[in-house]
Amino acid sequence: MFSLNSNYLKLKAGYLFPEIARRVKEFLEAHPEAATDLIRCGIGDVTEPLPRAVCDAMHSAVDEMGIRETFRGYGPEQGYDFLRKLIAKHDYQFRGVTVAEDEIFISDGSKCDGANILDILGKNNRIAVMDPVYPVYVDTNVMAGRTGNMQDDGSYEGITYLECNHENGFVPSLPQEKVDIIYLCYPNNPTGAVASREALTRWVEYARSHHSLILFDAAYEAFIQDPDIPHSIYEIPGARECALELRSFSKKGGFTGVRCAFTVVPKELLARTAQGGQASLHPLWNRRMTTAFNGVSYITQRGAAALYSEEGQAQVQSLITHYMGNAALLREAVIAAGLTVYGGTNAPYLWVQSPLGEKSWETFDRMLHDHHIVVTPGSGFGSAGEGYFRISAFNSRDNVLEVAKRLSLR
Ligand SMILES: *Cc1c(COP(=O)(O)O)cnc(C)c1O
Repeated sequence: MFSLNSNYLKLKAGYLFPEIARRVKEFLEAHPEAATDLIRCGIGDVTEPLPRAVCDAMHSAVDEMGIRETFRGYGPEQGYDFLRKLIAKHDYQFRGVTVAEDEIFISDGSKCDGANILDILGKNNRIAVMDPVYPVYVDTNVMAGRTGNMQDDGSYEGITYLECNHENGFVPSLPQEKVDIIYLCYPNNPTGAVASREALTRWVEYARSHHSLILFDAAYEAFIQDPDIPHSIYEIPGARECALELRSFSKKGGFTGVRCAFTVVPKELLARTAQGGQASLHPLWNRRMTTAFNGVSYITQRGAAALYSEEGQAQVQSLITHYMGNAALLREAVIAAGLTVYGGTNAPYLWVQSPLGEKSWETFDRMLHDHHIVVTPGSGFGSAGEGYFRISAFNSRDNVLEVAKRLSLR
């Protein structure tokens, strides 16, 4: 009989979101009258419709595809030049950062990029992730066979977990042991924390002196309000020699259902070969993309390009203003309810401490039963998330105002 990839059998059965769904379903079966006023603050998905400029650009692109003269078949696997140029200029040059157009690879999502990048990295690399963590980083490494088995506390053998807590501002300290690949996500999901220039500089210095790679996930950079917080890892000198950056239009442009993202692979980035020499990662990623991917649709890339037009930028700004306005209202309400809250000022997530002695799932149940509000228990993101819960600011204003009202009626 043929065999399967047994690494998949090491995966924790989808624990967090299925368990939330199960508890909500059970609650609604017992209290059907709560169905109409249940508010979900657990989702990491956007709620507001696509910017008008994006819809218009996509409509025109569809019309182009329907005419012989302007029809397009396969596009460049790395992405169309018109989009790569706009990204290089607006996301990097305007911030004083050098990223060449051909170092930008357009894809259908950061989730896929994060998983696929593992194809071009050696099997024996030691991985480090933040705890709490976006589960995709861990699970894709489990699937790729870079970990041992799951332990009783839900962590995996062979992964270094970097604890993020209120003492370190949810930015981990440098590890004692040498790690090869470090996942950093700022602004952070789930904690809503940001990393200062100094903190990122420490990590870049660590990576350079240990010849490690930083995978920098900047999916939420557009939500940064504080002008001193870097939007890109490449704002840190030396980062081009040690970091890849993942960016996505999902949260910034409401593209979670459209699908468009990009990865930056600087040409200076070198890795060790099996023979002990050094080779650049850029041609490997180019090879991976051209061989195993056929590009993002022209229509989608035209939609993404529209986010950089004057009209598109203004519309992105109003999306961000909406979600960050939600975050501010939620913060106020949570503080007024006597809870300690982190995040929510440069990211669309609030990381709230459960009342003293309460476990994440206990808070989840209490919020569900007493307030008919669904939150995400922090322990679902890792053991350092125990005693916290996440509130997402991705919601309508009406829902956020209602949540604030309910929290005040404790
Ligand atoms: C939402 C999110 C992304 C974006 O993923 P896409 O596949 O581009 O939609 C990336 N990283 C984190 C941490 C996220 O929360």
